[in-house]
Amino acid sequence: MKNYDLVVIGAGPGGYVAAIRAAHLGLKTAIVEKDAKLGGTCLLRGCIPTKSLLHSADVLDEMRNAKKHGILASEVGFDFEGVQKARKKIIQKSAAGVDYLMKSNKIDVHKGTGSLQSSTTVEVKGDSGTTLLQAKHILLATGSVPRRLPFIDIDGKHFVSSDEILELKHPPKSLIILGSGAVGVEFASIYSRFGTDCTVVELLDRALPMEDAEVSEEFTKLFRKRKIKVLTGTKIESAKEEKGQVVATINDGKTTSTLEAEMLLVAVGRAPVTHGLNLETVGVTTDQAGFIEVDGLMKTSVPNIYAIGDIVKTPQLAHIASAEAILAVDHIAGKKAEPLNYLHTPGCTYSDPEVASVGYTEQQAIDAGYTVKVGKFPFAAIGKARIMDKAEGFVKIVSDAQYDEILGVHIIGPRATDLIAEACVALRLESTTEELAHTIHAHPTLTEGVLEAAHAAMGRPIHM
Ligand code: FAD
Repeated sequence: MKNYDLVVIGAGPGGYVAAIRAAHLGLKTAIVEKDAKLGGTCLLRGCIPTKSLLHSADVLDEMRNAKKHGILASEVGFDFEGVQKARKKIIQKSAAGVDYLMKSNKIDVHKGTGSLQSSTTVEVKGDSGTTLLQAKHILLATGSVPRRLPFIDIDGKHFVSSDEILELKHPPKSLIILGSGAVGVEFASIYSRFGTDCTVVELLDRALPMEDAEVSEEFTKLFRKRKIKVLTGTKIESAKEEKGQVVATINDGKTTSTLEAEMLLVAVGRAPVTHGLNLETVGVTTDQAGFIEVDGLMKTSVPNIYAIGDIVKTPQLAHIASAEAILAVDHIAGKKAEPLNYLHTPGCTYSDPEVASVGYTEQQAIDAGYTVKVGKFPFAAIGKARIMDKAEGFVKIVSDAQYDEILGVHIIGPRATDLIAEACVALRLESTTEELAHTIHAHPTLTEGVLEAAHAAMGRPIHM
């Protein structure tokens, strides 16, 4: 039996970051991973591979529009095998990077499936047999898998989840996407630009339902401009394969109709992976949906066992998993640790157009009792956006009318996912719109959109 200060189960952006932090703080650390590669969903089947496919689609878009900028590119087209090769290469490199980080930080990697034998013993079943690891602390970071619908059998051919759709050899002619969250609309943005006729079906009354209502409205408008169909307030009742085609029955609350496509993607969220961990025996409690229950410091119902990332009921995002990892390990190591403020964590959707936000939406701020003022500025009036031929969307700042504190920032448009970082700092520092408006921003940059929205919140946008 090997002895450790900390054993981490799961090597995604939660688990591997926790292991590195623990090693930095002098804890003898091991990590257990059942997949052949380290990196988790994020690196192997999530953030990184989707962004690689999105980048290839962006390059194609740029080349198709090159003539507008005086650049002649004859025979613009794509080789989907090459697109997939680029994705695999970036995964390979990134996974090798995590391997290197484990070695350089002297973290023991145990390949195999981990489970709790007791509150201080982890059993690892791997190709080379069973190993027992003794641990003062255990951190569970086993992540999530695509949530399924009971009436749809994911066959990898006509019915796919985000895992299978990454691996396609060629784009389907047509695609029905169930769910207009980040995963669904990112795949719509990928495949529509490779020629797939995409239809997004959303049960709620607007696309990207977690975002500010005005962002959802603009997003739907811009998606439709790109010939992506968006059906909101629409429920799928059944879906079957007939003569090589998917036939889905949908209902918009008034009428029932059918949709046909070559393929259907189920993108309706992700379920936590806790099966087989032996949680009940050890006394780690879960909620009704199967998420592990934790306190603000990520501690479970068993004092020396922590849980982070997609298996706990906080937003299922890689940067949140990593932040929770650092918080949990700091607490284990006796360092200063403060619960995260989830309201100040950015949410990003890397679709075309991009969407990013932090803090309250306008409605949430009103519901929280604030009298709000709003500053909104369109990218159409930002020079850099026009130069890039991406003058679509806007920056919206929601602030408190009484004290001017910024409560939320919502961006739809070019590089929204990068631009949001400034807003995160502003919220963290409890900045006012006036302070943001008096912060000098370089010209010409897209960041001027944020600056102008701050001026707009004060009633005085410069370029409008
Ligand atoms: P995971 O990354 O799921 O890692 C868990 C690991 O635990 C896995 O490697 C798994 O094999 C291992 N494991 C499970 N059970 C065991 C066991 N019993 N023993 C040993 N090992 C085990 N988030 C973003 O922030 N930005 C994005 O752009 C983004 N894009 C995404 C795109 C897609 C298509 C998807 C599906 C997700 C995306 N996400 C994105 C979400 C992000 O991938 C997850 O939030 C993140 O990976 C969660 O990290 P984690 O460490 O909690 O779990």
